Amino acid sequence: MSRQSDPIYPEYAELRAEADRRASWCVDPADINFRIPDLVAARGYDWAYAVLGRPYGGPQSLYGSDIELLKLAGERDLDPSLPQHVVEARAAAEAHSIAGQEAAAARRRLLDEEWQAIVAALAARQNPVLVKVAHNYTSGRHCESGYVQGGDHIVFETRLLASAGRLRREPGQSACYQPSRARNVEVLVEVDDDRLPTCKSCIRTVARVVGLGAATMLGEPPAGARGYAANRRVRGW
Ligand SMILES: [Zn+2]
Repeated sequence: MSRQSDPIYPEYAELRAEADRRASWCVDPADINFRIPDLVAARGYDWAYAVLGRPYGGPQSLYGSDIELLKLAGERDLDPSLPQHVVEARAAAEAHSIAGQEAAAARRRLLDEEWQAIVAALAARQNPVLVKVAHNYTSGRHCESGYVQGGDHIVFETRLLASAGRLRREPGQSACYQPSRARNVEVLVEVDDDRLPTCKSCIRTVARVVGLGAATMLGEPPAGARGYAANRRVRGW
């Protein structure tokens, strides 16, 4: 019974027998140093994979018989197919990545829709409220290279008065602003890309103000799976 990695092309058995005959105990350094690297560079890693029936890991990884096998396949200009399980695994990985890309694009569309609906509803209020997205640079840890912390907040450009005056935000304040936690959102800098807010507290607050849901932005289960709690959330303030 053949192993999964055994090559299945018709010439393999005869080729391997010939390679075994040719192989000597002492490998020619020229094979390792340039003949095999040149051959694989010219024909490709997949070609070497198909000939050997297993991934090609460089000339140093080859036995003498493998070296002869590759040289014979090159001399005879063989171009075997990759093992079927490799072809299938690659196709599956590609399909998976396409599905992943489509799912990510669909999610991005939902996020955009939710956010644009909230922005439009804020602007359509009797006293229009304008918002922007700003990154929180308050933490000193932002100074460390590559470290992103703090999230992207919804910051008011115009004053917000909602819920009969109970909710009030001044221009420059984030929706999640609380006097007791003001120092956590001290340095908010507007971002000029098309990023969406990520601060859940901000999103929840403005969604309530306009009476809209923001399930995707809040990372909640999709509509229909949420039930009573969600209905209460979207009642509006
Ligand atoms: Zn926030």
